[in-house]
Amino acid sequence: MTPILFDLDGTLIDVSARHYFLYRSVISGQGVEALPEGDFWRHRRAGESTIDLLAATLGVDVERFTAAWMEGIERPDWLARDEPYEGVVEILETLGREYELVLITLRRDRGALMDQLDALHMRSYFTEVICHGPRLVSGKHLLQGVAELTPGGYAVGDTEADIELASETGRRAICLSYGVRSGRYLASRGAETVIGSLRELPEVINAAERSGGPADVADVEQDLALRNVHTRARF
Ligand SMILES: [Mg+2]
Repeated sequence: MTPILFDLDGTLIDVSARHYFLYRSVISGQGVEALPEGDFWRHRRAGESTIDLLAATLGVDVERFTAAWMEGIERPDWLARDEPYEGVVEILETLGREYELVLITLRRDRGALMDQLDALHMRSYFTEVICHGPRLVSGKHLLQGVAELTPGGYAVGDTEADIELASETGRRAICLSYGVRSGRYLASRGAETVIGSLRELPEVINAAERSGGPADVADVEQDLALRNVHTRARF
């Protein structure tokens, strides 16, 4: 079966509350004023990491922030703030009938990850769950188990890490523009196919399978122009 490699955070589940409120909690704990949520996400969607954001905030102890962030970001009480995107289980069920679904995430705590997948009723749709182990790696393609996956197919995700996974392993990248990065940023990082809703995914993949190529670039550019209007309105 053709594989589809799914990212989790920002792709299948909305992590915006966990990321923003953990950031705000840690920043406030240092007596520093946090950016408003809209500004935080405007920076993140434009390509900045949470750590990058701190450079613009006077008075933050970056080392202490990083330690607190790493300690909190995968803790179950913070993970409980994540929400699955609308229709996600149904879409996994549909795709799982025809494709081999693999989850690939840079999460470090496998136990917390599995508990969350169970709580969200998503675990059973994946033939394999690959996450970041204790060994530090510089890209998803280097995670243990990725080299042994069935070749071809698709990598679906919301950041440049997923585009890199696709290009490094010879798969087609399909990017979602509603997650941590904007459609405009993803296109600037070389994403050929950018969609605005998970609902579009089965059709985009089926069309690519029929044509043997990714979606028409003109269509994608037109979609992007429309979505940028939407993105500005939202943030
Ligand atoms: Mg992601």
